[in-house]
Amino acid sequence: MADNQSVLSVSIVTPDGQVYEENGDMLVVKTTIGELGILPNHVPLIASLVVDEARVKHGDNEDEIAVNGGFIEFSDNVATIVADSAERQDDIDVNRAEDARKRAEATIKKAQEAHDTDTLARAEVALRRAVNRINVAKH
Ligand code: ATP
Repeated sequence: MADNQSVLSVSIVTPDGQVYEENGDMLVVKTTIGELGILPNHVPLIASLVVDEARVKHGDNEDEIAVNGGFIEFSDNVATIVADSAERQDDIDVNRAEDARKRAEATIKKAQEAHDTDTLARAEVALRRAVNRINVAKH
Protein backbone atom coordinates (compact mmCIF):
# COMPACT_ATOMS: atom_id res chain seq x y z
CA MET A 1 0.00 0.00 0.00
CA ALA A 2 1.22 3.48 -0.81
CA ASP A 3 1.14 5.72 2.23
CA ASN A 4 3.21 8.40 0.53
CA GLN A 5 1.03 11.13 -0.95
CA SER A 6 3.19 11.43 -4.07
CA VAL A 7 3.29 7.72 -5.00
CA LEU A 8 0.77 5.39 -6.55
CA SER A 9 0.56 1.72 -5.71
CA VAL A 10 -0.48 -0.26 -8.80
CA SER A 11 -1.69 -3.82 -8.60
CA ILE A 12 -2.96 -6.01 -11.45
CA VAL A 13 -4.79 -9.20 -10.56
CA THR A 14 -6.25 -11.98 -12.71
CA PRO A 15 -7.88 -15.33 -11.91
CA ASP A 16 -4.33 -16.78 -12.10
CA GLY A 17 -3.17 -14.46 -9.31
CA GLN A 18 -1.29 -11.20 -8.98
CA VAL A 19 0.54 -10.31 -12.19
CA TYR A 20 1.95 -6.96 -11.14
CA GLU A 21 2.50 -4.90 -7.99
CA GLU A 22 4.74 -1.82 -8.04
CA ASN A 23 4.78 1.80 -6.97
CA GLY A 24 4.82 4.50 -9.64
CA ASP A 25 4.55 8.22 -10.36
CA MET A 26 1.84 7.84 -12.99
CA LEU A 27 -0.46 5.17 -14.42
CA VAL A 28 -1.94 5.30 -17.92
CA VAL A 29 -4.74 2.92 -18.95
CA LYS A 30 -7.24 2.76 -21.82
CA THR A 31 -10.86 2.83 -20.67
CA THR A 32 -13.99 2.32 -22.76
CA ILE A 33 -14.26 6.11 -23.01
CA GLY A 34 -10.62 6.84 -23.78
CA GLU A 35 -7.14 7.04 -22.32
CA LEU A 36 -6.90 7.80 -18.63
CA GLY A 37 -3.79 9.13 -16.90
CA ILE A 38 -3.76 8.84 -13.13
CA LEU A 39 -1.38 10.88 -10.98
CA PRO A 40 -1.09 10.70 -7.19
CA ASN A 41 -4.12 12.17 -5.38
CA HIS A 42 -6.42 11.68 -8.37
CA VAL A 43 -10.08 11.52 -7.36
CA PRO A 44 -11.45 8.01 -6.69
CA LEU A 45 -12.82 6.24 -9.76
CA ILE A 46 -13.99 2.96 -11.23
CA ALA A 47 -13.78 2.43 -15.01
CA SER A 48 -14.06 -0.40 -17.52
CA LEU A 49 -10.93 -1.14 -19.53
CA VAL A 50 -10.49 -2.22 -23.14
CA VAL A 51 -7.84 -4.68 -24.34
CA ASP A 52 -4.75 -2.47 -24.34
CA GLU A 53 -1.56 -1.76 -22.46
CA ALA A 54 -1.26 -0.30 -18.97
CA ARG A 55 1.81 1.89 -18.44
CA VAL A 56 3.31 2.60 -15.03
CA LYS A 57 5.90 5.35 -14.98
CA HIS A 58 8.45 5.57 -12.20
CA GLY A 59 11.26 8.06 -12.63
CA ASP A 60 12.80 7.57 -16.05
CA ASN A 61 11.47 4.01 -16.31
CA GLU A 62 8.16 2.68 -17.50
CA ASP A 63 6.58 -0.76 -17.07
CA GLU A 64 4.20 -1.95 -19.76
CA ILE A 65 1.63 -4.60 -19.08
CA ALA A 66 -0.75 -6.14 -21.64
CA VAL A 67 -4.20 -6.01 -20.02
CA ASN A 68 -7.11 -8.01 -21.35
CA GLY A 69 -10.04 -5.73 -20.52
CA GLY A 70 -11.49 -5.84 -17.01
CA PHE A 71 -11.78 -2.77 -14.84
CA ILE A 72 -9.77 -0.36 -12.69
CA GLU A 73 -10.59 0.90 -9.23
CA PHE A 74 -8.63 3.83 -7.80
CA SER A 75 -8.79 5.38 -4.34
CA ASP A 76 -6.33 6.58 -1.68
CA ASN A 77 -3.47 6.35 -4.20
CA VAL A 78 -4.05 2.63 -4.72
CA ALA A 79 -4.94 1.46 -8.24
CA THR A 80 -6.25 -2.06 -8.66
CA ILE A 81 -6.81 -3.51 -12.11
CA VAL A 82 -8.83 -6.73 -12.31
CA ALA A 83 -8.70 -8.49 -15.68
CA ASP A 84 -9.30 -11.95 -17.19
CA SER A 85 -5.62 -12.04 -18.14
CA ALA A 86 -2.61 -9.74 -18.11
CA GLU A 87 1.06 -10.18 -18.88
CA ARG A 88 4.09 -8.08 -18.02
CA GLN A 89 6.14 -7.14 -21.08
CA ASP A 90 8.94 -9.61 -20.30
CA ASP A 91 6.50 -12.47 -19.72
CA ILE A 92 4.91 -12.28 -23.16
CA ASP A 93 5.61 -15.20 -25.48
CA VAL A 94 5.68 -13.40 -28.83
CA ASN A 95 5.61 -16.58 -30.92
CA ARG A 96 2.51 -17.75 -29.10
CA ALA A 97 0.86 -14.36 -29.67
CA GLU A 98 1.82 -14.43 -33.38
CA ASP A 99 0.26 -17.91 -33.67
CA ALA A 100 -2.87 -16.67 -31.91
CA ARG A 101 -3.01 -13.67 -34.26
CA LYS A 102 -2.78 -15.89 -37.36
CA ARG A 103 -5.43 -18.27 -35.97
CA ALA A 104 -7.76 -15.37 -35.20
CA GLU A 105 -7.28 -13.84 -38.66
CA ALA A 106 -8.04 -17.19 -40.35
CA THR A 107 -11.14 -17.63 -38.16
CA ILE A 108 -12.32 -14.10 -38.98
CA LYS A 109 -12.00 -14.79 -42.70
CA LYS A 110 -14.00 -18.04 -42.46
CA ALA A 111 -16.63 -16.50 -40.16
CA GLN A 112 -17.12 -13.59 -42.55
CA GLU A 113 -17.62 -16.01 -45.46
CA ALA A 114 -20.08 -18.07 -43.38
CA HIS A 115 -21.84 -14.95 -41.96
CA ASP A 116 -21.22 -16.44 -38.51
CA THR A 117 -21.44 -13.33 -36.33
CA ASP A 118 -20.83 -15.07 -32.98
CA THR A 119 -17.62 -16.71 -34.15
CA LEU A 120 -16.60 -13.45 -35.82
CA ALA A 121 -17.08 -11.45 -32.61
CA ARG A 122 -15.06 -13.97 -30.54
CA ALA A 123 -12.26 -14.08 -33.11
CA GLU A 124 -12.10 -10.27 -33.26
CA VAL A 125 -11.59 -10.15 -29.49
CA ALA A 126 -8.95 -12.90 -29.70
CA LEU A 127 -7.21 -10.88 -32.43
CA ARG A 128 -7.19 -7.77 -30.22
CA ARG A 129 -5.64 -9.76 -27.36
CA ALA A 130 -2.93 -11.17 -29.65
CA VAL A 131 -2.11 -7.82 -31.30
CA ASN A 132 -1.99 -6.10 -27.90
CA ARG A 133 0.50 -8.70 -26.62
CA ILE A 134 2.63 -8.33 -29.75
CA ASN A 135 2.61 -4.52 -29.45
CA VAL A 136 3.52 -4.53 -25.76
CA ALA A 137 6.27 -7.12 -26.25
CA LYS A 138 7.83 -5.16 -29.11
CA HIS A 139 7.87 -1.70 -27.50
P1 ATP B 1 -3.85 -18.42 -26.76
O1 ATP B 1 -4.76 -18.70 -27.93
O2 ATP B 1 -2.42 -18.30 -27.14
O3 ATP B 1 -4.10 -19.33 -25.55
P2 ATP B 1 -5.59 -16.47 -25.53
O4 ATP B 1 -5.75 -15.04 -25.89
O5 ATP B 1 -6.73 -17.37 -25.82
O6 ATP B 1 -4.24 -16.95 -26.26
P3 ATP B 1 -6.04 -16.11 -22.74
O7 ATP B 1 -7.26 -16.98 -22.60
O8 ATP B 1 -6.24 -14.63 -22.78
O9 ATP B 1 -5.19 -16.60 -24.02
O10 ATP B 1 -5.01 -16.43 -21.57
C1 ATP B 1 -4.83 -17.71 -21.02
C2 ATP B 1 -3.57 -17.66 -20.17
O11 ATP B 1 -2.42 -17.66 -21.03
C3 ATP B 1 -3.46 -16.41 -19.32
O12 ATP B 1 -2.80 -16.75 -18.11
C4 ATP B 1 -2.58 -15.49 -20.16
O13 ATP B 1 -1.88 -14.55 -19.34
C5 ATP B 1 -1.65 -16.47 -20.82
N1 ATP B 1 -1.19 -16.05 -22.17
C6 ATP B 1 -1.93 -16.02 -23.29
N2 ATP B 1 -1.16 -15.65 -24.34
C7 ATP B 1 0.08 -15.43 -23.86
C8 ATP B 1 1.32 -15.01 -24.45
N3 ATP B 1 1.43 -14.74 -25.74
N4 ATP B 1 2.39 -14.89 -23.65
C9 ATP B 1 2.31 -15.17 -22.31
N5 ATP B 1 1.17 -15.57 -21.69
C10 ATP B 1 0.06 -15.69 -22.45
